[in-house]
Amino acid sequence: MALRNLRYEGDPILEKVSRPVKEMTPHLDQLISDMLETMYDANGVGLAAVQVGVLRRIVTIDVGDGPIVLINPVIEESDGEQTGQEGCLSVPNKVGVVTRPEHVIVSAKDREMKDIKVEGTALLARALCHEIDHLDGHMYTEKVEGDLIDITPEGGEENFDA
Ligand code: ZN
Repeated sequence: MALRNLRYEGDPILEKVSRPVKEMTPHLDQLISDMLETMYDANGVGLAAVQVGVLRRIVTIDVGDGPIVLINPVIEESDGEQTGQEGCLSVPNKVGVVTRPEHVIVSAKDREMKDIKVEGTALLARALCHEIDHLDGHMYTEKVEGDLIDITPEGGEENFDA
């Protein structure tokens, strides 16, 4: 496993649409391992492949309940509403208020390319929406209500970075 270099806001790759994965390959499996390592190293709760410069529809998430790997994720259902702070590993040391669905159901393939469904509420729903946005070239900063807020990395707050 290896850490990958994060891409930051202003890098044009973050505005590009990622391509679906047709089959798992050793190369992509390695990418997933590296994404998980990079996400944990950065204390993030989620990471999309584009954030390490790879335009494939792959997402890793861990909101504290263990790692989730999603290939070609699609939001099938969403309902409710939550408004709260959100951050992004590609926009370091900032947070902003974003309204997201409170509950989503996502279909995807897992690391073995088996069909799965993931149901998320609260933080997991937020992370799923945030990461799937990345796959379509969208950043949470497009949806922020009000201004981005500066935070210090050592602040010790519960931060959402994905
Ligand atoms: Zn992000």
